Amino acid sequence: MTRKVADCRKYPSESHCTLTISGEEDEVLRAAAEHAVSVHQHEDTPELREQIRGLLEDEKAGS
Ligand SMILES: [Zn+2]
Repeated sequence: MTRKVADCRKYPSESHCTLTISGEEDEVLRAAAEHAVSVHQHEDTPELREQIRGLLEDEKAGS
C-alpha cells in the first residue's frame, strides 16, 4: 500500500511549521486534523478533513 504524506509546509500558515506526517491515508488524515486543531487553531470539521485530503501526496518510493 502506498503511504500518504501531509506536508505542513504546503499549508498556508504563518507559523512556518515544517511538520510532515506520513502513513496510511486514514492515519495521516486523523493525525493531520489533530495537528491542525492543536497547533494551527483550525476547527476539526469535515471541510478541514477534505482540505487535508486534497493536500495529501503519495510518499516517494525510497530505498
Ligand atoms: Zn503544522
